[in-house]
Formats: sequence, structure tokens, C-alpha cells
Amino acid sequence: MPVPADTATLQKLNVPTPGDGEMVSIADDLLWFRFHLPFRLNHINLFALDTDQGWMLIDCGINSDDIGAQWDVILPQLEGRKPVAGIIVTHHHADHIGYAGALAARTGAPIHIGDVEHSMARWALSQSEDSFAAVAAATYANFGLPEALVTRTTSVGNYYRKLVGDFPEARIITPDTVIETVSGNWKVRFDAGHAPGHLGLYDEVRRLYIAVDFLLGRISPNISVSLRDPDRDVLAQYYEYLTSVANLGADWQIICGHDWHYHDGAARAAQLVAHHDKRLDELRVIGTPQTTSDAMNTLFRMELTDHEIFFASCEARAHLNHLVSRGDLVRDMQDGVAVFSPA
Ligand SMILES: [Zn+2]
Repeated sequence: MPVPADTATLQKLNVPTPGDGEMVSIADDLLWFRFHLPFRLNHINLFALDTDQGWMLIDCGINSDDIGAQWDVILPQLEGRKPVAGIIVTHHHADHIGYAGALAARTGAPIHIGDVEHSMARWALSQSEDSFAAVAAATYANFGLPEALVTRTTSVGNYYRKLVGDFPEARIITPDTVIETVSGNWKVRFDAGHAPGHLGLYDEVRRLYIAVDFLLGRISPNISVSLRDPDRDVLAQYYEYLTSVANLGADWQIICGHDWHYHDGAARAAQLVAHHDKRLDELRVIGTPQTTSDAMNTLFRMELTDHEIFFASCEARAHLNHLVSRGDLVRDMQDGVAVFSPA
């Protein structure tokens, strides 16, 4: 569950935010457009890279009629100039991948995705309503969330499938991939934290980095355990990522999957390190045994929908796991619930 983190010092890129159906140029080879989403995070930024072979689209939106209608406006503007050559999916989250299959069918272009995210999407799509619900219910019980919520979650079945459409054959993007555009060369990078194999693109000559969901400017990226792997220390992976971008200083332009784009990735990384350090402190000072549900209530003091409880509880657990890794807390199981106590 992403929350605002101090952003007052960041300098936004000097480009206008695209209105409905509009495209804005961020660089000579990079167009930006924005689609509405029916969540608290109410939009997504999508992009098109201009190559000699055609447009390489970056991300898709969820699978819905509304997203389809928004593509109805954007696609003719692009295809009037050149064909769509490919569709890059940065990671398996529904707002990025959901409409990929439909978009591939509409454009005839292949989907490109990293190996790890491809596996994540395939797994989630392959689960029946019952098996997906069973995994979610088991993990929510492990979190110590209220029985009624566990029951409601079970009744939803495969939530991922409701937002993500059929996903056809895809081409796997390898780490040595370079996308040559009409005005530069974009290398890829794969990072873990917000997702396990998230793809970013960067042009080191022009100091452009499409960070998508890993270095958002307004909100802190959601750092969550996955429902089927609740004990993993994903926050350690994200701290590692934040260290790895500490050299992307004021001469870099950071381009994001939500909200606005800005200068200076290093400054933002430092803010996000401070943000997570503070949240770890909030849980560390509790001093008595706590469940994941307790930690969620400590970190997120607001009314949460079921959809938001998913993000908030999985993010709270990521912080608890990291405190175990650091030796501050110990985890033990009590009647199927993971309890975290001072070490
Ligand atoms: Zn994401």
C-alpha cells in the first residue's frame, strides 16, 4: 500500500501532463500518455519508444473495456505514423500487464517480458478460483487477519484473473537486450523489490531512466511479500536496488509508471531509504509480540478497502521479515499465525 513520502525537494521534469487521449514527448524517441484506472492510484503512465521498425509500447493497463476504449484513442495516432513493433511488459502487476493479450491481438505485435515476471504472471493466471483463494486464505490466516476478511477473500477466487486477460506467447527479454531507437540506445535492467524481476530501461548517454514502478516520485513503491511466499525478505532486495541507483544524480531524468517524472534518482533513493528506515523503527519500538495484522494497523492508520488490505498487509509483512533478517525480531508460529517478538 503505497503512501506519500517526502517529495518536496524533487524537481519535476518540465513537460506537461498529457490530457485524455493526448501524447506528450519526453524525449525525441519517447512518447508519454496516461490512462485512467479504477483504484485509489487512479491512473497509469504508458509510453511508446520510436524505433525504425515501429513503436515499442511500454505497458498496457488492466484488462477492461475502459482501458480498451482509451487505447481506441491512442492507437490510431501511433499507427497513423508507423506500426506497433512490440509490446514491452515491465512486470506482472495487473495495471501493467492486464491488457497485453488484447493489445497484441489488436496490433499483431509480439509481447516482450522478462523471465521472472513472465513466470509470476503465468502462475497467477493458471490458478483456478479455488486454488488461488486457498493460497490467499492460508496467507491471510498466517497474517492474523480477521476471520471475516479471510472468508470474503476466499469468495473472490482468482482476483488476478479479474484484472488480467489471456496472455499469449511472449518473447523473453534477456539482460543483454538493447533497444535501438531513432535517437538512442536503451539498455534493460532487472530489479527485485516492488516485483521480483521488474524491467527498467535506461539510456546512459542521454541520462534517461524509465524506472516505471521502482523509483516513483510522489508515493513510495509498494514493497510487498507475495501471497505464496510470505516469509521472503523483499525489503532487503529493495534496499539493494536503492543503493544501486545512488549514482543516478541530478543529471538524470527519472520517468515513472505513475504520477510525474523528475530529476535526480539519487535524491529520491535517499528519501525512500529514510522512509523504510522509519517504518522499520515504528515496528521495532512496539516491544511486544505482533502479528502481520497488528503491524499493518501500526503502519497504515486509515480505513482500508479489501483491495488495499492486500497491499497493506503484504507490505507490513515485508517490513517484519526484514526486521527478522536484521536480528531485531524473531518469528514463531502460534496456531497457524506468524508472531514476531523482540529478539
Ligand atoms: Zn507495480
